[in-house]
Amino acid sequence: MSVATETKLIAPHGGELVDRAGERPADLGALETLVLTSRELSDLDMLASGALSPLTGFMGRDDYEAVLESMRLANGLPWALPVCLAVDEAPAGDRLALGDRAVLEVEEVYEYDKEREAEQAFGTTDDAHPGVARLYEQKPLYLGGRVTVFERAQSPFPELARDPADTRAEFTLRGWKRVVGFQTRNPIHRAHEYLTKVALETVDGLLIHPLVGDTKSDDVPAKTRVECYRVLLDGYYPADRVVLSAFPAAMRYAGPREAIWHAICRKNYGCSHFIVGRDHAGVGNYYGTYDAQLIFDEFEPHELDIEPMFFEHSFWCKRCGSMASAKTCPHSADDHVFLSGTKVRELLGNGELPPMEFSRPDVAKVLISAYK
Ligand SMILES: [Zn+2]
Repeated sequence: MSVATETKLIAPHGGELVDRAGERPADLGALETLVLTSRELSDLDMLASGALSPLTGFMGRDDYEAVLESMRLANGLPWALPVCLAVDEAPAGDRLALGDRAVLEVEEVYEYDKEREAEQAFGTTDDAHPGVARLYEQKPLYLGGRVTVFERAQSPFPELARDPADTRAEFTLRGWKRVVGFQTRNPIHRAHEYLTKVALETVDGLLIHPLVGDTKSDDVPAKTRVECYRVLLDGYYPADRVVLSAFPAAMRYAGPREAIWHAICRKNYGCSHFIVGRDHAGVGNYYGTYDAQLIFDEFEPHELDIEPMFFEHSFWCKRCGSMASAKTCPHSADDHVFLSGTKVRELLGNGELPPMEFSRPDVAKVLISAYK
C-alpha cells in the first residue's frame, strides 16, 4: 500500500471556482451605463475572479432574503452578507454596462428595506456605524443578475494581486495542502505575528491576506501597511512558508457575519484554515468580543469546510519571557506589555518607538515615517 503524496487543496465554496471574465461586447456603446461605487467595484472584481464563488453576479431577491434571514443562499449554501448592486430605477434594456468594466444581464429589480438589512447584516440600525451609514446612502432598488467582466480593476498593488486561481496554483506548486489565511486591515505587531506563527506551526503554509479595498479613513492606509508587511516578512518569517497577497475586498465592518464571509472568500483562495481573533471585522462597541468566533457554531462543521482557528489577545509576558495569551499565561496584567491603540498612535506620532516587545522596531519605523 502506498501513501498518497498528491496534494489536494480544499474545494472552492460550492465546488467550482467561478470565472466571470469575458470579452468586451461589440454593442457596449449602445447599452445604458451604470456608475458603480468603489465598494460595488470591489465586489465586481471579486465576482470576476471567483473570490465570491459560487456567486456569478449581484444577488437576486431569493438569495438576498435567504442570506439576511438564515445566512444561506437560496440553495442552502452558507453565505453571510449581501452582495448587491443598488440602482435608482429599473434599466430599460435587459443588459446594462457597469462602467467601462462589465456587462450585467438584468434578471430582476427589487425593493429592499434598508433598516431591516442593517439590523440583520450589521446587528444595528445606528447610522453612526460605518457599514450602516453606507447602506443608508445607497440607491433604493437592488438589481440582480449575472456579470461578465471584460476590464479588471487595476490593483493598487499589482505585484500582490493574485486571484484565487493564482493562490491555488502557488499553494499547489509549493506542495501545500493545509493553508491558514490571515485577514488583516492593520499593521502586524508582535501580537498578530504570534497568532500567525502559532497557526503556521500546525499547517503547511500561511497566506497573509491584507484587505486593500475601502476602509475607514482612520485606519492605517494600505500602502503603509503593505510596507510594514514586507519588512516583517523579510525579517521574521521563512519565505518558503508564507505567501503575501492583497485581498481586494472593501471593509463592511459587519463583525461576526463578516468573519464568516471572510472565511468563505479565503476558502476560495485555497485556505483550509482561517484565523479569527477577538472582535474580527468589528467597529466601535457594536459586537461582543467573541461574537465573531461564536457565530461559527451556527453552522455544522462540514458546511463551511474551512476550519476557523480562534485566538485570544496575545501579549509579551515578562515573567513567561515570551508571547502568550490568557490561555497560556498564569500571570497578572502587571507582567504583560500592553499598549492601547491610542497610546501606540501617540508614540508613533511623536516619532517614538513602542517597546520592542509590542512592535518590531523595523515595523514601527515604517509607521513613524508614514505619520510624518
Ligand atoms: Zn506569563
